[in-house]
Amino acid sequence: MTKNRNHLNLLCNISDLANLLTGSTDIESFLQQTVELVSRHLEAQVCSIYLFDEQKEELVLKATIGLNPEAVGLIRLKVGEGLVGKALDQLAPVNEGDAGRSPDFKYFAEAGEDPFASLLAVPIHRGIERIGVLVIQHESKNYFDEIDVMTLRALAAQLAGAIENANLLMDIHRMGKKPGPNGARETLRFLKAEIGSSGYAYAPAKILNRGRDVLMEEGARDALLTLTDFHRAVRTTSDQLKALQARFAARLPESASLIFSAHFMILKDPQFIGKMIQLIQGGVSPPEAVRIMALKYIAAFSASSHAYIREKVNDVEDLSRRLLTNLYRADLKESIIGEKRIIIAADLYPSDILKLASEEVRGIILVSGSITSHVTILSRSLQIPLLIADCAELLKLPDETPVLMDAEIGSIYIKPAEDIIRQFQIRNDARQKAKPLSPQMSPATYTRDRMRIHLFTNINLLSELATARNLKAEGVGLYRTEFPFLIRSMFPSEEEQVGIYKRLIDEMGDGEITIRTLDVGGDKVLSYYDAAGEANPQLGLRSIRFSLKHPDIFQQQLRAILRASAGLKKIRIMFPMISSLDDFFAAKEMLAVCSADLDRRGIPHHQAPSVGMMIELPSVVEIMDDFAKVVDFFSIGTNDFVQYMLAVDRTNTRVAEYYQPWHPAVLRGLAKILAAAIKEGKDLTVCGEMGRDLDYIPFLLGIGVRRLSVDPQFLPSVQQWISELTVTEAEKFAAAVLAQPTIKGVLQIVEAA
Ligand code: PEP
Ligand code: MG
Repeated sequence: MTKNRNHLNLLCNISDLANLLTGSTDIESFLQQTVELVSRHLEAQVCSIYLFDEQKEELVLKATIGLNPEAVGLIRLKVGEGLVGKALDQLAPVNEGDAGRSPDFKYFAEAGEDPFASLLAVPIHRGIERIGVLVIQHESKNYFDEIDVMTLRALAAQLAGAIENANLLMDIHRMGKKPGPNGARETLRFLKAEIGSSGYAYAPAKILNRGRDVLMEEGARDALLTLTDFHRAVRTTSDQLKALQARFAARLPESASLIFSAHFMILKDPQFIGKMIQLIQGGVSPPEAVRIMALKYIAAFSASSHAYIREKVNDVEDLSRRLLTNLYRADLKESIIGEKRIIIAADLYPSDILKLASEEVRGIILVSGSITSHVTILSRSLQIPLLIADCAELLKLPDETPVLMDAEIGSIYIKPAEDIIRQFQIRNDARQKAKPLSPQMSPATYTRDRMRIHLFTNINLLSELATARNLKAEGVGLYRTEFPFLIRSMFPSEEEQVGIYKRLIDEMGDGEITIRTLDVGGDKVLSYYDAAGEANPQLGLRSIRFSLKHPDIFQQQLRAILRASAGLKKIRIMFPMISSLDDFFAAKEMLAVCSADLDRRGIPHHQAPSVGMMIELPSVVEIMDDFAKVVDFFSIGTNDFVQYMLAVDRTNTRVAEYYQPWHPAVLRGLAKILAAAIKEGKDLTVCGEMGRDLDYIPFLLGIGVRRLSVDPQFLPSVQQWISELTVTEAEKFAAAVLAQPTIKGVLQIVEAA
């Protein structure tokens, strides 16, 4: 029998799936359309979706084409029971050519399964969360082959987020309750702040205070709004979300176009919108109906013991706010919460920043955090001005208070007077004019005495690649792969990761590329993963420790990198936060397993990547000679190196004065590391913030650093500064500071230089 082999691309095409999501009328119809699409493209006579009911620990048949539709909701399987349960239990596909003969087969008379011999079941999961199983069946024996398995896996991965949302929504029953009102103050006028991401903004404030309920304020016009207004608001909200999704897909490809899948699902959930309509028909005002249902969903999600479900509270809040805004502001085309506002918040997830960016937020003021925290790093990537002010009073300002933030010099003015606004505008205009339109960059960087220094770029978001190319970066010295994980509300699948890494590679042309494996934990919290409330997250299950603890997630990522770089001459894979040779060997072994797995499955991939490590821990210093014999290349993450060397949390403003890169132990540690790498002829890059800070560059050159990797916007200033230095002077300077035993002594030399 000949089969259509063109379906792989088609199925992997996200737009097909996005259409399913936005086009269906409710959750059941979404699942039904999904099984229809799959059965059509894979030419399977049966396609079914089973979802995992966490409470009962059972799989339930939720949609099918080909089996008896009456069996939906009735067929239930324990994990491990039957071939379908086995797929979920093992988190691996089960492909049986003659299912009835398998000892694991479980027969359900009510399903009408008798004529179907071939069965292929693929688990739907996100990282470690079990969501369900996608099953296809065919009457011919041995019908499904490796390509079908790959296709179904790819499809299950793409759909996992949306299906999971559908699953959650089907299970909501509990009621919520109203939190109390919040206080407000207006005494602050001016304060100084630390600059996280430069720029300026003058806009009304929006206070984001977790725990405060923003859905509570009753409007004066509530009683005048009708069911027609409600329907219009739902339509407008849906249209806005579709437009937003399209904008996201274009601007931030790694966020995946299904980022709003939870929003769409909730909008289509008859329990949500349908119940609101019922309430309105029963005499409740439309905004009150939205509030009642939003609180019910928020209470249900918040009560979950799983972080990835609690994360959905944000989605419900966001969606409900949109609905309310659209109810109240019928005349507005765009009505988004952070739009053209300065956000003031105690803390934000990286995924919050992403949403805010899509709403054209003007600036962000954080009342905690630090310039090396990852929220700050992300806002720089997105070019959103960000200031860090150690002042909790800011959170009590009323919304809409005019705020002027000057993140070029680190000032915040609350309700600035006319003359301050004027001065600010004059200064700002002058600053704009002074900025050269496109800085002159040479493709190669030299010191004044002609030592070649290699300048690479750190990439957090793919959207930064264009700037990096324009500024002639020699390659990507650090690709922080955790950002696609951080900015979503779900683990990205292997296929999605392949897409992201391919894009990175394609867009960087011939430049050298170093991809760092997942570096989550610490301040890089995955909002959807339970971090088990670690008391010391910076010393906890961070980075490579997380990856080694979760081989599923780690191997998915390693396979994705190897697959995306198939056919490339060179790719560099780098492990973060390595503390011992044992860690390094364990991670390398994992890579070998992935390579062998891809070989076995005949999937094209890179055969011999260079394998390197980040130096971020003091434990590396003493065994650096041994590392240098076995590691292909090194990169020093000075942000963490300083943090761990000095035992000072890089995100804690209260101990900020202890975060001192000029500490003699840091400087001597760095010098030792360099000496060992140079002795073995291993290349070494500095990719932490010290590498872009003009104050430290002479020292780094002086101890032998010849490769720097910096955020793209710093490339011009770093190149310019290097061209003014000589290696001879840098070596003299480094020797002088290295001789000092105290911070004070070092600073005296630095100031005199
Ligand atoms: C570092 O620690 O210096 C580094 C580059 O890694 P990250 O900032 O992502 O922790
Ligand atoms: Mg680090």
